[in-house]
Amino acid sequence: MIVGPNGTTLTLDSKSPFDLRLDQSREVTESAVKKALRTGDMGFLHSFTTGSTVDGPGIRVVGWTAGCHWRCLYCHNPDTWSMINGMPVTVERAVEHLRQYRHGLKIMSGGFTLRGGEPLMQDRFAAKLLTAAQAMGIHTAVETNGSLGDRLSDEELEKIDLVLLGIKTWGSEKHTRLTGQDIGPTLDFARRLAARKRPVWIRFVLVPGLTDDPQDLKEIARFAAGLGNVERVEVLPFHQLGRYKWERLEIKYELEAVAAPSKELFDQACGIFRTEGLKAF
Ligand code: SF4
Repeated sequence: MIVGPNGTTLTLDSKSPFDLRLDQSREVTESAVKKALRTGDMGFLHSFTTGSTVDGPGIRVVGWTAGCHWRCLYCHNPDTWSMINGMPVTVERAVEHLRQYRHGLKIMSGGFTLRGGEPLMQDRFAAKLLTAAQAMGIHTAVETNGSLGDRLSDEELEKIDLVLLGIKTWGSEKHTRLTGQDIGPTLDFARRLAARKRPVWIRFVLVPGLTDDPQDLKEIARFAAGLGNVERVEVLPFHQLGRYKWERLEIKYELEAVAAPSKELFDQACGIFRTEGLKAF
């Protein structure tokens, strides 16, 4: 439990990232937010979840950060876009929370994954938390869109045992239409991770009619295969679990009529990655 700025009690744990959490930092002053971002002494977290089997190897504890400057049309956690929706948590408190899981995580060959939102929006907090986790012997992973990777020093990259790098689509125009942002910084970060031989899993969300162009998939596959440090590609079927959040937040949602990909489409996508010699699931 955490006592919020207004004296209310906040719970760090969440059963699911699909819990809608809003305005948890409403009473934190702007200057306190700026200081937190500068020093990394405090972070803004949507929640912690435990027992994840889909955020890196083994069983994971996952810290969900608040704040993302992208606007992916298929985002299933738009409540993590705003930093103000995250609860303020000191780095010490987050480390203490993590410490209680460290033995279990080792036994289950798991670790800690920081994701969001975009964790590197809070790069100082992320660096401190991941450094502390690794120092406790916990395997560390970050799921990121990669666009802010240049905020981490080479030394800080060494504190991340695995980067789960989201590549959303291919081509500047399509990428901007899908995410609101340019693809260039993500690809630059991927190349930097490759140059430093840091392990990477590529994550790709397969959305029928939006990200399923076989030519785009081939381009992503060729790029990923050429890096030399990509251990696997995870093809994530689009789903509608976050749709209610868009409705509650009154944000226009364009994918209402889109269904999950068929098994055939999923297999075809994995096949394209495998053709380039990558492991794809
Ligand atoms: S980068 Fe992730 S959190 Fe940000 S909008 Fe895209 S899917 Fe959502």
